[in-house]
Amino acid sequence: MSRLDELTAGLEQVRARIDAACQAAGRSVGDVRLVTVSKTWPVSDIALLQTLGVRDFGENRDHEAATKARELAADPPRWHFVGSVQSSKAMSVASYADVVHSLDRRSLLTALDRGAVAAGRTVEVLLQVSLDGDPARGGAVPSALAALADAAAEAPGLRLAGLMAVAPLGVEPDRAFAELALLAADLRTRHPGAGAISAGMSGDLEAAVAHGATLLRVGTAVLGHRPSPLR
Ligand SMILES: *Cc1c(COP(=O)(O)O)cnc(C)c1O
Repeated sequence: MSRLDELTAGLEQVRARIDAACQAAGRSVGDVRLVTVSKTWPVSDIALLQTLGVRDFGENRDHEAATKARELAADPPRWHFVGSVQSSKAMSVASYADVVHSLDRRSLLTALDRGAVAAGRTVEVLLQVSLDGDPARGGAVPSALAALADAAAEAPGLRLAGLMAVAPLGVEPDRAFAELALLAADLRTRHPGAGAISAGMSGDLEAAVAHGATLLRVGTAVLGHRPSPLR
């Protein structure tokens, strides 16, 4: 099987799962966007997926993402940064990322905003929430969200788009995403334009769709098992 055949099959399966999940939840497929997480995979895979109509790609390391963005500059996809961002990398990330899913602290907000303004761009940001209260793994605790949201809404280089979470290990995805949906509803009362919910990966996208996810971050189910043991 050629790589194109493999990717075509993976993509078809994931699209079928998303269709079924939307139908089960009574949601429109058009309200759910697939972000294909291409971390560790070569730029040639991204180019093949572009020919299959995939527009959105997720990366989680600045060096790798920046290199891919340069290589695909002639026909750029929409780049989503889904990993934790060291503040020292924020200038670089803001120069190519269209959406940053992992904004979780004030110092990063300031650095991303500065980078976006310097690059003459507007970067969409999602506030990453820690649903198990262990911010060591990334994400702001729920009680910190309101102040972070207000600051993001005021930042000239950023556009506050919504929330993101990863279901914590050992917690039912269904329970985690139900909690995320409540936090997202709360955010919308103060920031009506911030309606995006980034949730759901290869293993739990159905639960995420059931609880209102608008952005699904799927790697393995489209591209296969990653060659190196990155998250
Ligand atoms: C790697 C990664 C994904 C994709 O995970 P899969 O299980 O391969 O679908 C999604 N979100 C984040 C934050 C990731 O780091």
